[in-house]
Amino acid sequence: MALNETIYNSPVFQQACTQFDAAADILGMEAGLRERTKRPRRCVIVSMPVRMDSGKVEIFEGYRVQHNLSTGPAKGGIRFHQDVTLGEVAALAMWMSWKCSLVGLPYGGAKGGVVVNARDMSLTELERLSRRYMQEITPFIGPNIDIPAPDVGTNEQVMGWMMDTYSNHKGFYDPGVVTGKPIALGGSLGRREATGEGVAWFVKAYLQDMGIPPEKTTVVIQGFGNVGSETALALYHWGAEITGISDFTGGIHNPKGIDLKAALAYVAANKSLQGFPGGESVTNEQLLELPCTVLIPAALERVITGQNARKLKCRLLAEGANGPTTNEADQILSERGDIQIIPDVLCNSGGVIVSYFEWLQNLQNYYWTKNEVFDKLHRMLAKAKASVDETQKKYNCSRRTAALVLGIARVSEAKAKRGLFP
Ligand code: GLU
Repeated sequence: MALNETIYNSPVFQQACTQFDAAADILGMEAGLRERTKRPRRCVIVSMPVRMDSGKVEIFEGYRVQHNLSTGPAKGGIRFHQDVTLGEVAALAMWMSWKCSLVGLPYGGAKGGVVVNARDMSLTELERLSRRYMQEITPFIGPNIDIPAPDVGTNEQVMGWMMDTYSNHKGFYDPGVVTGKPIALGGSLGRREATGEGVAWFVKAYLQDMGIPPEKTTVVIQGFGNVGSETALALYHWGAEITGISDFTGGIHNPKGIDLKAALAYVAANKSLQGFPGGESVTNEQLLELPCTVLIPAALERVITGQNARKLKCRLLAEGANGPTTNEADQILSERGDIQIIPDVLCNSGGVIVSYFEWLQNLQNYYWTKNEVFDKLHRMLAKAKASVDETQKKYNCSRRTAALVLGIARVSEAKAKRGLFP
C-alpha cells in the first residue's frame, strides 16, 4: 500500500514525507528500508466520554501515533486543538523521531492529539478530559515505552493530571511516564523555558554567523504561548527589539519595540492579546510579512506557504513551531536565497532535550540545578548545530535536509541492524 493510501494521508503528512524523501535520496536509502523508516509503527485512536459541567456527556476523539520505537522509548507531546487530525499527529510524530535522533537522545518518536478547543472548557472539564485520555492510552505508554509531554494547548497542569492518573493505575508514583510536569511533581527546572531558550540560542548563534549584532536585530514572533513568549523574553534580554507578536486572535506591531511584560500581564488578565494597546493591530497573515531581521513562527504548521513566501521580509526564519513551512514555500525560499532557515527539528529541539533531562532526573531520583540543566542544554545545542552545518556543507543541500539526513540516518541504521521486527 502506498503511503498516500494510508489513514495518515493529509497535506501535512505529505509535507513530512516529501522532506523525508529529499534526505533519503541523499543517503541513497534503498526502497524497502526507506518505507520502513518512514511509516509510523502504530497508532491508537480513542474515544473519550467526558461529563461536562452542565451534566451532559460529550465524546471526544484522541490519537497517539508511535512513529518509531527502534531507537528507544517513543517521545513526544500531546496537542489539544480543535483542528487536530490523525494525519497531522502522524507527521508530528515523524518529526519527533528525526528531532530526537538528530540531537542524540535515546528515544524514538511519537505524538498525541485530542480534537478539542480547550479554551471553551472549564478547568474541571479539562481535568476530566486529560485524565480520561491518559486512562485510555495507559496500556500503550510508560517510562520505557512512550513518554508524552506538553504541546500546543497543553501545559504543566495537564501533564500533572496525566502523571497522577497513570501513577494511580500502577499503584505507585511513577513520574518518568510524562515530562513537562510541575516542579512539585518531578518536573525539571528550566523545562518551561527550554524550547524558547533553545530557539533563542539558535537565533543568536546564526545571527552571529551572519555578523548581525543584537542592537541591529528586530524580531517578529507568531504565537505567544509557551514557546513564543519564552523566545521573545530570551531575545529581548539579549538586546534585540521584539517588534511583532501574535496569538490566535491576531497580532500587534510596534516598530519601536513591544513591552513584553505588559503583553504577558495583558494575556494573563484577558486570556488573549486581543485589544492589547501596546502597538498597532495586524492580522496573523500581515504579521508574517512585516519587515524584520528574524521571523519566528511559533504556533502551528503550514503558515509559510506558496502564497506568502515571496513576500517575507526577514533575513532569518527560525522555526519554533513544527512544520511551519510548506514544501512549496521551501522551494521558493531556496530560489530566493536571501533568507536563512533554522529548521524546526533543530530550532525547537531544546524542549525535548530538557524533557530528556527531566526523565533522567525522574529515573535517578536525583535533581539538578537550573544552571546544570541550561549548561548541558547549550552544549547539546552547540553540538547539533555544528553537525548540521558540517552536513550541509558536505552535501551542499538545504539546512533542513542536512538536519533530516542526520536524524534519519541513525533511525534507518538502527532498523537495518536490528532486523525486520522493530
Ligand atoms: N511538543 C514538543 C516538541 O514538539 C516537546 C516534546 C517533548 O518534550 O517530548 O518537540
